[in-house]
Amino acid sequence: MSVLAHNRQMLLHNIHENAIKNAQNPDHIRLIAVSKTFPASDIRTLYECGQRDFGENYIQEFQEKVHLLENLTEIQWHIIGHIQSNKSKIVAEHAHWVHTLDRVKLAQRLHQQRPKHLPPLNVLIEINISQDPNKHGIAPNLAEMLALAKEILNLPNLCLRGLMCVASADVPPEKLKPEFNQMNDLLKELRSIAPQADILSMGMSGDWQIALACGANMLRVGSAIFGKRDYSH
Ligand SMILES: *Cc1c(COP(=O)(O)O)cnc(C)c1O
Repeated sequence: MSVLAHNRQMLLHNIHENAIKNAQNPDHIRLIAVSKTFPASDIRTLYECGQRDFGENYIQEFQEKVHLLENLTEIQWHIIGHIQSNKSKIVAEHAHWVHTLDRVKLAQRLHQQRPKHLPPLNVLIEINISQDPNKHGIAPNLAEMLALAKEILNLPNLCLRGLMCVASADVPPEKLKPEFNQMNDLLKELRSIAPQADILSMGMSGDWQIALACGANMLRVGSAIFGKRDYSH
């Protein structure tokens, strides 16, 4: 078995065990393999052992991989990085999920550019849960979230599925938990106007256990599967 397949297997096993421990249904937890900076061949390797959900951050890299992996017909592409408005068309045409919807203008563009023969694009509202000025996402504010959600609900080529966050890095669990719990609370509020919104995308290699315990059902894991990223080239 390849190292990647082994890492994924271990991770899935761990997720399963944690879900049981938390009294969650393991079948309702989705693992997004975050493949940014890693080659298309790595994605193919994981696809061949059953992985279907892959996350990419950079639109140009995404476009290249979509092209190289056209024959992986069941792949589900998740855009998890910030989307500049002038890059929205590639996303609308090729992604299955957008985790980083953070403004009305981007929602409108994705709606307009979504090809008619494709199902609605699944979107998550990105919440800047740590209120870090260097991060994207809307403030963790109920009124702001509901205002953006109402705009999205008017766009039939988008399907509002839930919320996403990147929590504070390098903080102890007792500081992380309140962030993840606040996301869970916000999702409950969102569901009062969007009952189909059932997704909480949170948790990465370093914090997925805590995120899961707080209700995450999409875990975005990169380095724990693929290894350390190299940004030098
Ligand atoms: C890179 C990235 C991940 C994966 O991070 P790891 O720590 O490698 O698991 C998850 N979510 C987002 C938004 C990312 O940019």
